Amino acid sequence: MIKLTQMEAAEAAKQLENTTPQEVLKWSIEKFGSRLSLASSFGLEDIVLIDMFTKLDPKARVFTLDTGRLHQETYDVMDTIREKYGISLEAYFPKNDAIEDIERKHGLNLFYKSPELRILCCNVRKVEPLKRSLSTVDAWITGLRREQNPTRAAIARVEIDAGNGGIVKINPLVEWTQDQVWDYIKENEVPFNTLFNAGFTSIGCAPCTRPTKPGEDPRAGRWWETGAAKECGLHCNAKKQ
Ligand code: SF4
Repeated sequence: MIKLTQMEAAEAAKQLENTTPQEVLKWSIEKFGSRLSLASSFGLEDIVLIDMFTKLDPKARVFTLDTGRLHQETYDVMDTIREKYGISLEAYFPKNDAIEDIERKHGLNLFYKSPELRILCCNVRKVEPLKRSLSTVDAWITGLRREQNPTRAAIARVEIDAGNGGIVKINPLVEWTQDQVWDYIKENEVPFNTLFNAGFTSIGCAPCTRPTKPGEDPRAGRWWETGAAKECGLHCNAKKQ
């Protein structure tokens, strides 16, 4: 197992300051090899990273959390990307017995009933499968950007993920803007989720995502409750603020 201390992670983040995402990825590949995987929900940042990562390492590992409640358009782009880049996508599903339990107790649409039940559903469908997937790696790559959400304003290029066993979390796009992400997609002809052409600006599960209006925060269309962080618990606490 390849581990970094807090100090080593901070030194790596400093060393990689002002470098390109590709340079961050190169460092990650050299350091962690096959014990490195990219988390992808096939959002815009994730597909940029899949393009960059597979160009640098044809054996790049990519995993996704298939919650069972995704849009058809998301499944479509998953397959398109799998085929275009020749990746063996590692899909993780929620545990059957946990889904059966929450649906029997709270109904099939429990996420609309209260913020607590929404978070329970995210825990079963996303957080637990994430923990299982991360048990197979020493470092994971995410598409987090600082401007996406106030909860993400302080993220570094390299961090220790204390909530996931102290493995390393690598965020190559921290400083990129939304425009830089779109420019890369267009320049490199990266296939993207067609829901982005229908007013969606951040895409999660189908029942919990809506298109946003012009001028709205890009993550405003995620979930329905007010006064809670627009997070599912994968990266930040989803509890009420
Ligand atoms: S986003 Fe909605 S459907 Fe998906 S896991 Fe969270 S609460 Fe459940």
